Parts: sequence; C-alpha cells; structure tokens
Amino acid sequence: MSKLINQPSYSTRPTLRVDLPQIRANYESLKSRVGAAKIGASVKANAYGLGAVPVAKALYGAGCRIFFVATAGEGKMLRDGVGPNSAIYVLNGPAPRDKGVLLGAKLKPVINSLEQARYWASIARSVNEPPYTAIHIDTGMNRLGLSFEDTVELGRDKSLWKALNPEWVMSHLACASDAKNPMNKTQLQRFRKAAAQLPLTPLSLANTAGIYLGKPYHFQMVRPGIGLYGGVATHKPGQEVTKPVATLLAPILQIRYIKAGEPIGYNGTYIAPRDMRVAVVGAGYADGVPVNQSNSGTAILHDEEVKIIGRVSMDLTMIDATDAKLSVEVGGVVVFRGKHLETEANQSGTINYELLTRLGQRCRRDYWKPKSKDLDAPKKEFRKR
Ligand SMILES: *Cc1c(COP(=O)(O)O)cnc(C)c1O
Repeated sequence: MSKLINQPSYSTRPTLRVDLPQIRANYESLKSRVGAAKIGASVKANAYGLGAVPVAKALYGAGCRIFFVATAGEGKMLRDGVGPNSAIYVLNGPAPRDKGVLLGAKLKPVINSLEQARYWASIARSVNEPPYTAIHIDTGMNRLGLSFEDTVELGRDKSLWKALNPEWVMSHLACASDAKNPMNKTQLQRFRKAAAQLPLTPLSLANTAGIYLGKPYHFQMVRPGIGLYGGVATHKPGQEVTKPVATLLAPILQIRYIKAGEPIGYNGTYIAPRDMRVAVVGAGYADGVPVNQSNSGTAILHDEEVKIIGRVSMDLTMIDATDAKLSVEVGGVVVFRGKHLETEANQSGTINYELLTRLGQRCRRDYWKPKSKDLDAPKKEFRKR
C-alpha cells in the first residue's frame, strides 16, 4: 500500500508516447532523399495507429501539404484537423455513401477502376468546382487500380478524363522492400508505359520502400507512410534513414512472488522454473502487445530487457522481474514497443506495420510536440480547388 502512495501519478492505463519531432525529422530525412519530388504522407488507419490529426499537424508544420487516407471518413477527420490548405486523397476511391463527405470536406478521390471513373465523372459533372482526382493504375500488384487496357480506354475518352480532372497518376509497388526483386523494374516499366497512354500528368509510384529504390522511382511525388513512423521499409542493411517514434508504456499493477513449479496466466502455459518475482503489467493485446509474444517477447524495465511470461491477456501481461537490478514496484513503468520495430515484428511473427496499427485506442496518448508555433495549421478559407 505504501508503494502506491509513493507513486502519486500512477494510473492503471497504458500510455502511447508519440515523438512528433522525430516524425518531422523522419519526414526531413526522406525529403532529403527525393530531391524535388513532393511528399504525400500516408496517414491512413489513424496514421498507422499513432493519431492522424496530431501526426498530420506535425507534418504540416514541416511543410507537408499532401496527405493520403484510405476512406472518406478518415479524410473528413483529417480535414477538420489540418484545415483547408492541404490536399487529402482517399485511396480506396469514391463510393455512393461517401459522396457527401467527399464533396463537403473537399477530399480528392483516387480513381481505381473504370467503374469508379464513370461514377465519379457523373458526380463531377453535376457540381460546381469538383475536386481534382488521382488515377491509380495497377502495374502488377493486382490490388486496386486500372488495368493497362482500362488505362488505354480512359486515355481515349477525352470527356471522361476532363470530368475527372486528374492531377496525379499513380501506381503502387508490391515488392519494394526487396530491392533485388525483379518485380520492381517490371512495375516501373509498366507504369511508364501505362502513363504514356494518358494526357501528361505528374506521376507518383513510390511508398517508403520505393524511395530507397532510388531516383527512377521517385517521379514527381513519393507517398511514404511507415518510414515517417520509424518502421523498417527496406531490407537493404544500413539504408534506413528514419528512427522509431512510438513507445507503449504500461504500469506495474501488482508484484507477486511465486514458487518453482507454479503456473502463470491463462492455460498455465508457463511453469516457473524457479522461485520468481513476477510483475503484472497493465497492458495486453487490446493495447497492442501481440499475443504472439506470449512466453517469447520482451519488454524493458529500467533499461533492462525482461521476458514476457505466460500468455499475454487482453489487459495484462506478466513479466519476469526476478533478476531486475533496480527497484521493481507498483506504479513502475514497463516499456513495450521500445525496441527496433523490425526485431519485435520478427519475434512475434508479424510485420512492423501491424505492430503500429494495432496499438490500442484505450491508451492515453502522450504527444511530444515541437515547440515551434508553426505546428498548427492555419484556419483559412478553402483554397479554390
Ligand atoms: C499505404 C500506402 C502507401 C504508404 O506505404 P508505406 O509502405 O507505409 O510507405 C503508399 N501508397 C499506397 C497506395 C498505399 O496504400
């Protein structure tokens, strides 16, 4: 009990700490790699779990004016957050239920098929000052995008092109994290060939990993996501120019001393091999500690690596604090997601993208803000298109 009283600021809730200055630094690092190409920041899925609005505001302060989200709803939230002066593209395209939101928030749909093209053209023809669009060509990923044949057809249909008013033509790389994969060059060639079927428009191909593939992949805009958030995008060793930005901090809620042979947690998947000191920590898989790290992952306590023992539960994780050198007490802080994301992803059979996006909504979010006052986007009129 006295321990609790000694920790007046202790709460049972985990904290997600997001280092906004580092996100800006990552933006600058990527920018320095792409010369004159613009950066369109991928802030979909709530900026990979880190909070789309604060992240986008920090990027805005660094000069970013182009953002990519997946859905119209994400776009609307971002518009309310960053104000009128940014271009916000909706990657998943236009759909009837989203029409009002797209138009109301001046979001720019990415057109992924002839069907979407025709649908959006019919809307665009019926309103004043419809937003610009981006045309997405599929060059081999076989996910969203126009096929080569569709692209040819769009290029021939002058009226359709005019109604869509595209300001970018883009494609997406399937294997960019693997620089040696011949698919990269294939997609580059297909992209050039397909774009040549359309009226001259600025081009965009690279995600973060594509930036590391070099200049031929940069065109007029790159679209990094994971690199901004310190994830690993390329498997070329030593290439990464960005650093981690997210840490999950969780409080120790209880400390128990158990005897050798006793089981820990659900299904008793861990049996204490010796007498142990166990810290029960207030973060679980609902907060972003992967259940795959049960009995295998690690966390950090006072700069020391400690083992996760037993099955990670929804709200709690147990760690082996037997040999921890410094004090272990209720209210003490255990750090998850503090290591290199790629190492952690490998340990838990996932990818660093998922480690970020699954960071729970329940966490208190603690944003480290740059001091500069240019952080906040100005609230002016919508710039005409
Ligand atoms: C998510 C996404 C990106 C960003 O990719 P990263 O690998 O996170 O850099 C870029 N373009 C498209 C079309 C995407 O879906």
